[in-house]
Amino acid sequence: MARANIFNVQRFSIHDGPGIRTTVFLKGCPLKCIWCANPESQKMSPELYNVKTHCIGCGACIESCQHGTLFFGKSGIEIDRSKCHACGVCASECYSGALKMMGEERTVDEIFREIEKDTVFYDNSGGGYTLSGGEPLLQAQFCLELVEMCKNTGFHGAIETSGYGDTQDLKQLARMLDLVFFDIKEMDDRKHRSFTGVSN
Ligand code: SF4
Ligand code: SF4
Repeated sequence: MARANIFNVQRFSIHDGPGIRTTVFLKGCPLKCIWCANPESQKMSPELYNVKTHCIGCGACIESCQHGTLFFGKSGIEIDRSKCHACGVCASECYSGALKMMGEERTVDEIFREIEKDTVFYDNSGGGYTLSGGEPLLQAQFCLELVEMCKNTGFHGAIETSGYGDTQDLKQLARMLDLVFFDIKEMDDRKHRSFTGVSN
C-alpha cells in the first residue's frame, strides 16, 4: 500500500468543489508561486511550523531542542532552519500549539478512513473529497490507490492540480475522478518562470 507525506486533512471544506468536502493536502510542490496560499506545503519533507500569535513565551521549546535551533527574536520565537533536524521534539513540548510539525507519512488506508468519517455530510450536501496540496501529482501512486478505493464507495472525487507532473498519471486520475481543477498559472512562459520558478 502506498504512503504519502500529508500535511493536513481538512474536514468540512466548502471551497474545494461542490458540497461539504474533506480536502487532503499532499506535501511537496515543484512550483514556488509567489502568491502560494500554503507555502508550508512546498517542501516534500516534514518541517517545523511556527504560529507566532499563539506563543505564550514560556521558553519550553528552547530548552527542549538539542540543536540550539530556537531563540527569542523581536517578534517571538525564531527558528534557525539551517540547524533544524525536523525531529518534532519542540513541537511536542509546546503547550500553546504555536509550534507544529507540518507533514506526516500516512497510508492510503488511513486517509481513506478519515474521508469515510464524513459520509453523512457528503450524502446530504452533494459533497465528497478533494486531493490538493502542494501538487498531488508528485505523489501519484498514493493518489491513484486512494481514488480507486474511494471510487468503489461512490464518493465524489476531485483534484486540484497545476498539471506539473506525469501526464499519464493525470489522465489515469482524471478517468476515475468526477472533477479536475486544472490551474494554469500563466500562458506566457517567461512570466510563468518568473512567477512560479518553472516553465509552463
Ligand atoms: S524540530 Fe527538533 S531540531 Fe528542529 S527546532 Fe524543534 S527540537 Fe530543534
Ligand atoms: S514552547 Fe511554544 S509557547 Fe513556549 S515559547 Fe516555545 S513556541 Fe512559544
